[in-house]
Amino acid sequence: MQTHFHPLLSPALGTQRTLTSFHFGTPGAGEKAYVQASLHADELPGMLVAHHLRGLLEAAEARGEIAGEVVLVPLANPIGLNQTTMHYQLGRFEQASMENFNRNYPDFFSLLKDKIEPSLGHDAAANKRAIRLAMREALMAELPATELQCMRHTLMLLSHDADVVLDLHCDFEAALHMYVEQPLLDQLMPLASCLGAKAVLWAKGSGGSISFDEALSGPWWRLAEHFGSTFPVPMACASTTVELRGQADVSSALAEQDAQAIFRFLQHRGIVAGTAPPLPDAVCEATPLAGTEALHAPHPGVVAFLAAPGDHVVAGQVLAQVVDPLSNRTTPVHASIDGVLYARHSLRWATANLELCRVAGKTPIRAGNLLSP
Ligand SMILES: [Zn+2]
Repeated sequence: MQTHFHPLLSPALGTQRTLTSFHFGTPGAGEKAYVQASLHADELPGMLVAHHLRGLLEAAEARGEIAGEVVLVPLANPIGLNQTTMHYQLGRFEQASMENFNRNYPDFFSLLKDKIEPSLGHDAAANKRAIRLAMREALMAELPATELQCMRHTLMLLSHDADVVLDLHCDFEAALHMYVEQPLLDQLMPLASCLGAKAVLWAKGSGGSISFDEALSGPWWRLAEHFGSTFPVPMACASTTVELRGQADVSSALAEQDAQAIFRFLQHRGIVAGTAPPLPDAVCEATPLAGTEALHAPHPGVVAFLAAPGDHVVAGQVLAQVVDPLSNRTTPVHASIDGVLYARHSLRWATANLELCRVAGKTPIRAGNLLSP
């Protein structure tokens, strides 16, 4: 294992943060996997999974079993990790800019679609190399001006040429679920099987500012659609956001289980050699992100949930009650679709219109920007 240090642009005099990446195997020897954790900073299950995955990869490397390359970034966001006020950690948004740490990644499709054409031909593998080179050139032409931009830029430089990218997050309280771009589903359902994902939510572009995983998988299917059969473009980056349950689901038992699952997927993919056990059956089928229903608090009050993450619910079922003890009002919150309750808030005090929980259904019911800000 090699350790690389990536100093970030200093935001203030006397302050310097650093990203650390662990590298296994040999670049170019086979497929490359990139795994990062805790991009939203206060989402720690992935950090512990990365720790256990590191141990598995070190042991595999000692056995000579890293057939490709694996890059592991256990702490993807040192900026957010230090945003602590009276022991409470503020993740997700950078305090300096109020930007979401997982938005505003490069739109490689727009950057490349015109200038790449002269470099493309009829060989899909050659096109893959040309597009990756152009992505790197686009990144090298960027000049980050802030610490946050520098962090995003460094993460992109580490990951843009990977064949498989796992961005390990979690929700407030949740069942294990994944976000995947639809054209990459076939490559990533084996991971969902290994992890026992209770929901796999697919979209073709989430409609908003570009998240880390979309920045890496999006250009491939967009360029493939843009050039059609004229120039074949392979689906060369299977990138996914993995939501490792809820923020408090941090335990060695779960982390070891998830690290083993990712290791098994890397074996299935051929990035790690050795004999992987057969893939388990998938626990769920993939459903459209546009088929998810977000349920909101109808008024302020105390929240009492009647359904838990992972529950299969039906249309009309009461998932929560919001109680206003002053007006003696109790309002039930109903699901309007059948599906899996895959995430719910960890707060039990609702201000007006607080998003309480989400249900994954099979039929699209939404359009526009499908992700939270
Ligand atoms: Zn997150």
